[in-house]
Amino acid sequence: MTFEDLKIIPQILKALKTLGYTHPTPIQQQAIPILLEGKDLLGCAQTGTGKTAAFAIPVLQRLYLDKKHHSQQKGFRKTQVLVVTPTRELAIQIGESFATYGKHTGLRSTVIFGGVKQGAQVQALKKGVDIVIATPGRLLDLMNQGYVTLKHVRYSILDEADHMLDMGFIHDIRKIIAKLPADRQSLFFSATMPPEIVNLAGEILGNPEKVTIKPEQATAERVEQAVYFVAKKDKPHLLLHLLQTEKIRSVLVFSRTKYGADKIARKVKNAGITADAIHGNKTQSARQKTLKNFKKGKIKVLIATDIAARGIDVDELSHVINFNLPNVPETYVHRIGRTGRARASGVALSFCDSDEKTDLKSIQKLIKQKIPIVAEHPFVHEESDEMMAFVTRSGRSKAQKKNPVPSKKARRNKKKGYWQNRRTAAKKKS
Ligand code: AMP
Repeated sequence: MTFEDLKIIPQILKALKTLGYTHPTPIQQQAIPILLEGKDLLGCAQTGTGKTAAFAIPVLQRLYLDKKHHSQQKGFRKTQVLVVTPTRELAIQIGESFATYGKHTGLRSTVIFGGVKQGAQVQALKKGVDIVIATPGRLLDLMNQGYVTLKHVRYSILDEADHMLDMGFIHDIRKIIAKLPADRQSLFFSATMPPEIVNLAGEILGNPEKVTIKPEQATAERVEQAVYFVAKKDKPHLLLHLLQTEKIRSVLVFSRTKYGADKIARKVKNAGITADAIHGNKTQSARQKTLKNFKKGKIKVLIATDIAARGIDVDELSHVINFNLPNVPETYVHRIGRTGRARASGVALSFCDSDEKTDLKSIQKLIKQKIPIVAEHPFVHEESDEMMAFVTRSGRSKAQKKNPVPSKKARRNKKKGYWQNRRTAAKKKS
């Protein structure tokens, strides 16, 4: 199937061609026809599936065709499309998508988010925009100050609803929704569908069509996964070992805490590898700069917390490393979805300490897969056998059977050998 088959107008096709998009991704194939017909949509899909284009293309197309009918272009532009998304990074990224896909449509969009001065955003709004992409807090703030009105919105898109909930935005969302006109097309996206999300979707959507791109589909098909049993204190060593021995082009390392992210970044930098950390304590401009350097390949290792990583969209990302396993299994799916994007295949490696084995088990249950365990590495956990027994209680996967864990003695020798080699290499250097 091609974008022409989906009856995309030439103005948008031209932009897609420039970007090198030839075939729509599964979510685009399913969602675009529904949205072009004007129906509400409940999309269960994670970032990385081509979800942004799945909603931006049909919305731009409908708006463009409406605009031609009503020749609204001459007067002050009223905001007709509202996209609400949890993080600034995602808002910026979605804004870029609308701008590139809509380049030849003459439609105008702007992005509003907190953490920066509001002046430039207010200026853009004063000029009049067709499409607003916003994070909830700043949007409400500007609405209260009278700079944004939602009275004319005909298309509303709520993106990453499960993260809105995690980040405590639910009340803000309800306030925003209450200001939207009833007569509109509503789109609702979430990677996971816990009961609160199903309820919220029920409140917002009429009788929606549903499109589900299952996480297991997305992860199993594209991302090669592996887990390392390793003690907490050995995790930094294992990370450096992998960075030095594996073919890793660019890697996103997930840390549970902001402090941890900084600490890992320092260790990696000290080993002479380009690295930086992004998290909520850094200013927006510092985060943007780091992200830009990472995308350009100037930084090989980016260490991020889950929230800061939400908007990271790097096509060339070859690896994701979970320095800590998340305790919400859905987060694992979000994380590994950062690699293996629409065009590439990726590798996701996870470090699991003994107090994370329950998390690993929940993840395996969610993705309905046994993640292969790397049995041989210099830092195998002392309690590896017990951990494996716990994680694989219902039997071991084929990959695990092929790769039995070496004896405790062999593991100890391997670790000793690793440090010996390091010392010899260091002596030679000096
Ligand atoms: P998203 O899930 O919206 O974050 O998109 C993931 C990545 O896939 C982005 O880098 C998009 O530019 C890219 N992408 C989206 N649709 C397509 C397509 N049909 N062909 C190739 N790349 C795509």
